[in-house]
Amino acid sequence: MERLQKFIAECGIASRRAAEKLITEGQISVNGDIVTQQGVTVDPAKDIVRFNGKVIKKDEEKVYIILYKPKGFISSVKDERGRKTVMELVSDIPERIFPVGRLDYNTEGLLLLTNDGSLMQKLLHPKFKVEKVYVATIAGRLNSEGLGRLRHGVMLEDGRTAPAKVDIISYDDTADRSKVQLSIHEGRNRQVRRMMMAVGHDVLALKRKRFAGLDLQGLKRGMYRHLTEEELVQLT
Ligand code: URA
Repeated sequence: MERLQKFIAECGIASRRAAEKLITEGQISVNGDIVTQQGVTVDPAKDIVRFNGKVIKKDEEKVYIILYKPKGFISSVKDERGRKTVMELVSDIPERIFPVGRLDYNTEGLLLLTNDGSLMQKLLHPKFKVEKVYVATIAGRLNSEGLGRLRHGVMLEDGRTAPAKVDIISYDDTADRSKVQLSIHEGRNRQVRRMMMAVGHDVLALKRKRFAGLDLQGLKRGMYRHLTEEELVQLT
């Protein structure tokens, strides 16, 4: 329960002092009854408070979560095929949060979740060119021609990809596989897998290690943390 004037202030209607005045003036009702006395308390989850007949509500607190998504989880709120979703990994967050974009079922790595719709839009809009950094484990050895094509942009069914920063991290000759880091700012469906296929390599594993300047430091697979104030300032 919370004092009515505090609730009114937290809805952004008036300061606490001014809210007391609104109450005295008979401009506030609780569950349909005008309240003019001070000292009334309300349950923000149940009671309906009106200011001059209009329902007022507190803004839901904004939450910003970095999750280290493991393989084997869908990056959406529900899956019609009944597979596990990333929401199970953040089930103790009471606010209604949503993943910012997607990682494939078999991709692991950094996934941001929030209830801040405008930040979400900004991060997903192509014009903001948000940087995403992936490490792909691929079959075979990427040659300089493939590397050049990836850097320059490769033709996919939905058009040529923008130039990307691409570096070979390592080649394991026993297993005949390579690790390649790609930094892209587009967000097309299965983009890294399709880019690699276009230059003749299967992706065996894929991890997103950075998104919009954020990284996975301090997180283990399946764990999440709240963004720090500093990270949030840098993001918004
Ligand atoms: N590119 C992909 O192919 N898959 C992802 O999950 C992310 C980027």
